Amino acid sequence: MILKASNIYKSYGNLPILKGVELSVNKGEIVSIVGASGAGKSTLLHIIGTLDRPDQGNLQINGTDINQLNERKLSSFRNQHIGFIFQFHHLLPEFTALENVCIPAFIQGVSPKEATRRGMELLDRLGVEGRAQHKPAAMSGGEQQRVSVARALMNNPSLILADEPSGNLDSENAASLHQLFFELRDTLNQTFIIVTHNEELARISDRTIHMRDGNIF
Ligand code: ADP
Repeated sequence: MILKASNIYKSYGNLPILKGVELSVNKGEIVSIVGASGAGKSTLLHIIGTLDRPDQGNLQINGTDINQLNERKLSSFRNQHIGFIFQFHHLLPEFTALENVCIPAFIQGVSPKEATRRGMELLDRLGVEGRAQHKPAAMSGGEQQRVSVARALMNNPSLILADEPSGNLDSENAASLHQLFFELRDTLNQTFIIVTHNEELARISDRTIHMRDGNIF
């Protein structure tokens, strides 16, 4: 099991947002999380991404108990084990595609030569090697999102978390991005947890989790 979240509670002020969430995900699974706005999906994804701590409950990722890590160890763990894909690609505008993809490896202390080698390999795998020297503004939305998938894969993470990854793409580019997730699952046994409003993606996922009022069904 790559993720085990048990009895997760989170409140903001005295407003309870997550109310005892239980979620286990196996390696190589593609899990979609769906539900109305305000149900707590992003809050849960932030907690699973170790960007926020739960008020109560346990979170294990790849066998590591997240509660036991101090802030310094936690940021290193996050960099190594979790890849993020956002609705708006969040690539750094002043850096090229290749540099953006390499940043997670630089943070990990990988040499520029090795990071560049792996960065090019990933851009090639995702079909955007021709964009390596382009800055984000010079790429299409679909290309930007493929570069951010390459960035998410850079450190060979245990888990990729995506928040509305196709929310800003037209239907053709969205379908192609979803196809890519399944290819990465098939070839790398990569695990994905994806918050989405896209019904087609939810339908083709290995498992769809419905969130309502701070819990899952
Ligand atoms: P979803 O992703 O399902 O739309 P969210 O997890 O974003 O839901 O939000 C759930 C609820 O938590 C919402 O009512 C939202 O306003 C509230 N919320 C989220 N983040 C914060 C925060 N940092 N501070 C206060 N309230 C928040």
